[in-house]
Amino acid sequence: MNENVKQEILSKIEAYGTIIISRHIRPDGDAVGSTMGMARILRDTYPGKKIYLTDDDFSDYLAFCGGEDTVPAEVYGEALLIVIDTGTRKRISNANFALAKEIVKIDHHIEADPYGDINWVEDFRSSACEMIADFYLTFRDRLKISPEAATYIYLGMVTDSGRFRFEGVTGETLRLAGALLDCGVDTETLYAHLYAEKPEALRLKSFVYDHIRLTKHGVAYIYMDAAIQERFGLNLEAASTVVSELSNIEGSLIWVAFIANTEKKNIRVRLRSRFLGINDLAIKYHGGGHNMAAGATVFSEEEMYALIEDADQLLGEYKSTHEGWL
Ligand code: AMP
Repeated sequence: MNENVKQEILSKIEAYGTIIISRHIRPDGDAVGSTMGMARILRDTYPGKKIYLTDDDFSDYLAFCGGEDTVPAEVYGEALLIVIDTGTRKRISNANFALAKEIVKIDHHIEADPYGDINWVEDFRSSACEMIADFYLTFRDRLKISPEAATYIYLGMVTDSGRFRFEGVTGETLRLAGALLDCGVDTETLYAHLYAEKPEALRLKSFVYDHIRLTKHGVAYIYMDAAIQERFGLNLEAASTVVSELSNIEGSLIWVAFIANTEKKNIRVRLRSRFLGINDLAIKYHGGGHNMAAGATVFSEEEMYALIEDADQLLGEYKSTHEGWL
């Protein structure tokens, strides 16, 4: 069935003279890599078409990938909009998306909002970039890929799979990544961008390690309040990255970063887990996502502590009924 969907998408791409590509708000490596990669493939393959990549947001950490285009509103009426890595219309980082003539959704989140005229959704994929790699390989006789396009797509596969560590990684993931490497991915530069850290970043990590809290059953959490963000000169996005520092504590199968959003006067929540799912917990707190990586929002410190209490109970129940966790 998905072969048909892919064929339908290619036919749409071939039929339209103007194509706009969008991704989700607060873009990450997968959102940026999949859209930059797709845009590059389409520009190289169809030099006669107008291909726009647009985003109402911008991610500092991914600035090295390059910029976006401004698309005049009147262009949308004749355009095909391809939205990648974005589960719901609420999360599309394009205020004009509904003006597009037709929409194609390409996504790997659990389907909750089939907003496309064509929806290609495969939630077993470790990244949306994996789907773009698959799309390219399916039509490799018709599509052109440059080393730069391959590098963007590889970037998303690497970042969204935790460097090919997360549970969604399959043999197929690695076969697709291998095919991209064969197209000339510059891994040395890519990993330098992803790993090289400024000394201030290391000082922040040191602070975070010192301030991680653990609940009775082992939920690790940190609250990046406004004062901490100010002390380290962090914006919301930079403060949000600390969730990954909580991920490798023995016995801590759920970890959560709370980040004060001073502008919206709420608290962004980033939930992660291993062995047990936290998606239902995220849904309870106005969010959602994947089984083991989800996001939520709480609107007060009381609600933050209620979430921590719920997470602790969940983990306590899991530990008392399961063995073999680490
Ligand atoms: P984050 O911690 O923001 O990286 O989110 C982890 C995963 O959950 C990502 O795949 C997001 O797309 C998804 N996610 C985050 N926030 C929400 C939300 N409010 N509703 C649905 N999915 C979300």
